[in-house]
Amino acid sequence: MEKILSVDRINTYYGKSHILFDVSLDIYKNEVLCLLGRNGAGKTTTFKSIVMLNKPVSGKVIFNGKDLNGLKPYQIFRLGIGLVPEDRRIFGPLTVRENLMLGARVGRKGVWNLDMVYKYFPILKEYESKPGGMLSGGEQQMLTIARTLMGNPDVLLLDEPSEGLSPVMVNTLKEIVLGLKAAGATIILSEQHVKFAMAVSDRVSIIDKGHIVYESSIEKFKEDLEIQKKYLAV
Ligand code: ATP
Repeated sequence: MEKILSVDRINTYYGKSHILFDVSLDIYKNEVLCLLGRNGAGKTTTFKSIVMLNKPVSGKVIFNGKDLNGLKPYQIFRLGIGLVPEDRRIFGPLTVRENLMLGARVGRKGVWNLDMVYKYFPILKEYESKPGGMLSGGEQQMLTIARTLMGNPDVLLLDEPSEGLSPVMVNTLKEIVLGLKAAGATIILSEQHVKFAMAVSDRVSIIDKGHIVYESSIEKFKEDLEIQKKYLAV
């Protein structure tokens, strides 16, 4: 298996608060890794550290053999790591299509283009001329994911994608993540929604108070009821 991304014992702070403690993760080509943890466990901070939005003070992030230290977030996006943030930063007044084209403009060339995106997200084709701000929360989540895909990332980081979505939308999201994996994507998602994580992931890492406390295959994790109870709200 080809390792694409390696997070090696990173420590990250907000001012004087030490948030991540020697966090390590390895991600292999075409797998879905889920970073599970409660509110405030450090999931978002881990993602921000990977793309240097919040630079780790020590430790390394190695992507396709390259040390990302010293690079700017936009350079990391161009190298091929696409972060879909929790707060769905779409451009409200721009149409769905314009939002998508922005992702293409700042990203790389590859298999993802408007036609591909519309195939995977038919709802976005239907609404392509609508302002993004008029879409529902779930549709905006789809738009944010699709916009990031337009930049043709090698690795997609999805920060709590199921948060605030209706059960129907969570189901759609599940189909999308599984579809992306089938198309060859490599994905790390952060989640608190254990059932959703189980339905889409190959492996799981649990983060608690800034420490990775558990790593396992999804099959083993499903049996580990004690672990689920201890670290997650199940
Ligand atoms: P959530 O589901 O709430 O997003 P999370 O697992 O993503 O949880 P983080 O957002 O990474 O957690 O937060 C980890 C810790 O860092 C928390 O204790 C949080 O209070 C703290 N924190 C997050 N952002 C900041 C910030 N901008 N300044 C100071 N502390 C922060």
